[in-house]
Order: sequence, then C-alpha cells, then structure tokens
Amino acid sequence: MRILIANDDGYLAPGIAVLVQACQGLGEIDVVAPESNASGTSNALTLNRPLSVFVADAAAQRGFRVVNGTPSDCVHVALTGLLSQRPDLVISGINNGANMGDDTLYSGTVAAAMEGYLFGIPAIAFSQVDKGWRHLDAAALTARAIIERVLPALQQRAAPWLLNVNIPNRADAAALPRVVTRLGRRHASEPVIRQINPRGEAIYWIGPAGSAREAGDGTDFHAVGQGQVSITPLQVDLTDHGALASWQARLAAA
Ligand code: MN
Repeated sequence: MRILIANDDGYLAPGIAVLVQACQGLGEIDVVAPESNASGTSNALTLNRPLSVFVADAAAQRGFRVVNGTPSDCVHVALTGLLSQRPDLVISGINNGANMGDDTLYSGTVAAAMEGYLFGIPAIAFSQVDKGWRHLDAAALTARAIIERVLPALQQRAAPWLLNVNIPNRADAAALPRVVTRLGRRHASEPVIRQINPRGEAIYWIGPAGSAREAGDGTDFHAVGQGQVSITPLQVDLTDHGALASWQARLAAA
C-alpha cells in the first residue's frame, strides 16, 4: 500500500502532520505539500513558471517534499515525475475549516484529492468543520478509521472514487456516527470588504463564504450540524445532463 498525502494549508500546518501520523503502519507514505498556505486555489496548476521541490528537514515535517505551488501542482508533480511508484490512495488535509457544499468548488484540499482521482487513483479529502485545530487528534483518529475501512476496496484496483469528509471538532469525533451525504448549497458569499491602502488606493478583500442555504436532511451541512461525520462521494462532471435536450432544441443548428 502506497499513500500520497497533500494539503492546501501548507506543509507546516498541524493538519497534515497529524494525518501523516495517523497513517503510520498502513504502508509507504509520501508527503508532497505546498510551501505556503494555498487555501481557496481550487484546481489551479502553475503554468507560467517552473516549480521547485525541496525536502523538509525539521522534525515535524522531516521527509516532506515541499512545492512552491498549488495543491494540485503538488499531486500533479508527484504523480507525473516525483514518485517512483504510483500510489494506491491519495489523501488531502486535514484542512483548517469545513469544505461543504459550494466550498468544494474553491477548495484546494478537495482539489488535491481530485487531482489524484483525475489520474485514476481513489482519493479522500479531510477537513475539520471549525477553524483553529481544536480536537485535531480526534479528527486524525477519525481519518485513520475511515482509511482503514476503504483499504480492502483499494486492493481490488477498481474504478477510482473521491470522498469529501468533514469532521466535527469534538474530542469524541472518532466515535461519532459517520453518514454518507450529498453536498448542500451555500448562499452567495458576503460582499467584498473595501479598504484604503497606505498609498490612498482602494483595495478589496473577498468576503466570507455565505451561510448554508440548502442544508436539509441528507446534506453535509445537516450531518455536521447533527454532530455526525459527513462523507460525500464526489464526481467530476460539470455537464448539465438535464438541460442537454432543451439546449439542443434552442441552439443547435439543423
Ligand atoms: Mn485550507
């Protein structure tokens, strides 16, 4: 068993350190992570400059390979040249904060896992619901338990899959019910925050994400609100299948 671990909070983040710890004994582990925090970079690849890789030496990150790029860069470079063998599983996280509903489109944590999935490798993104790393050890135990449950499926080398896991920040996280959910939806994000910089120019901060809009029974938002670990299987197909016929009728030339 070979496991590739990445994240979007950067190689120094506590979340990736505990995830690496949690995987000890499961197989060969490679860590390839961004040099700095790359949250919200989605599936971006760096195409306008080369990427550098260095190996971290400090105790908590010893052996981590560090890329001056995005989460997707990390997994992409790992799979296309850095690793001598193809991993059986790609995992990402543990992220500092939830990745639910529409967050998954912007998330670098989900994107790192998705990059593995796009290369045909089963992948899991792990996030803690609240920022601040509270009860991170319990989240790591939860991640370990979920990974152990999918290990038998990995032996079969079947079609790849992609799971998005959100873990409540609780000391008993590993004992919480784990439920399979669909993504909810968020309201549009809050307005930008306009400020004036020291040179008198207007600057804009992207506002916080919107609150949950579709958070009914069966959604990821609902599950974590009930104190459950949410596990959403994701797919990558942006086609609006339901609208194909109507667009064909309206736009396609005879
Ligand atoms: Mn992040």
